[in-house]
Amino acid sequence: MQPTASGQHHTTFSFGDLTVTSLRDGYVDMPATRLRDGHGQALGEVPDCVPLFDGQLRLSVNAFLISDGTASVLIDTGASEAWHSTMGSLNTALREAGVDRVSITDVAITHHHEDHVNGLISPDGSQAFPALERVWIGAADASVFTGRLAPVSDRVMSISGRTAINDRVTALPTPGHTDGHTVYEMTSSEGSLLVWGDTVHVPSLQFTQPDVSWELDGDQGTARQARHTLLERLAGPGHFVAGAHLDSPGVGRVSRSGDGYALEYLAPSIA
Ligand SMILES: [Zn+2]
Repeated sequence: MQPTASGQHHTTFSFGDLTVTSLRDGYVDMPATRLRDGHGQALGEVPDCVPLFDGQLRLSVNAFLISDGTASVLIDTGASEAWHSTMGSLNTALREAGVDRVSITDVAITHHHEDHVNGLISPDGSQAFPALERVWIGAADASVFTGRLAPVSDRVMSISGRTAINDRVTALPTPGHTDGHTVYEMTSSEGSLLVWGDTVHVPSLQFTQPDVSWELDGDQGTARQARHTLLERLAGPGHFVAGAHLDSPGVGRVSRSGDGYALEYLAPSIA
C-alpha cells in the first residue's frame, strides 16, 4: 500500500486492486483530561510523547473513500458546519481528490458522533451526496437520523452482525466507543485494511499504552478490550489500518512493541 497523490486535504493510496483515498475534514482540539487510565480516572500527567496545542490534544478528523474502479464506499463524512469551524472540509477534500460527489451511492458510518455523520448534509444544508442509495450504520446508533440528518433517514441500512456492504467491504460491529460502533474491513490483492473509526483517539499514546482510554468511550472497558483485540489482529502480516483520528492522512501499519504496539504511518502527515 503506497501513496500515489496528495494535497492539503487528501492523500490517495494504491492498495492492490483497490484505491483508498484519505479525506481530511479538519481537526478538533480536546482537553487532555479526556484521557483516562485503566481505571477510568483522568491521567495525572500527560506523557511528553503527546503533543499539545495550547494545552489541548489535537485530533485529526478523517474520512476514507474505498474504490475498486466500479463501486465505491465512503466511510464516515466529517462534521460539516455542525460542530467546530476547524472541521467541515470533506467536500473540499473530495474535489481536491478529483471525486465527483454524484458518484457516491454508499456511505458507511462508524458511529453516530457528529464528526462522523454530519457531513451527509453539506454546510449549505443540501444533501452532500445527491445519488446516495444507502447509509450503513450500526443498529444501536441508527436513531441519529433526525433533525438536520432527517433527509437521508429513508436510506438507512441498520447493521447488526457481520454484514457485507459490497463485494469488497465488510462491516464488523465493534461496540464500546458507542453501542453501535462498527469497523469496516476490506481485502485487496495486497492485504487487508481495517477502517476502525474511533478505536484510538490519541495515536501518540494509545498504541504504546492501549489500556489508556477516552472519556467519551461510552463503555470504557468494552472499548479497551476491542482496542486490544483489533491491535493484536493488525500486528499480523498483511494488515493495514486507517483511523478517523489517526494523524492525517491516518493510514499505517501496526507492529508489536514492548508491552504495547507501534504505528508506522504510510505517508507523511498533512495535519
Ligand atoms: Zn470521532
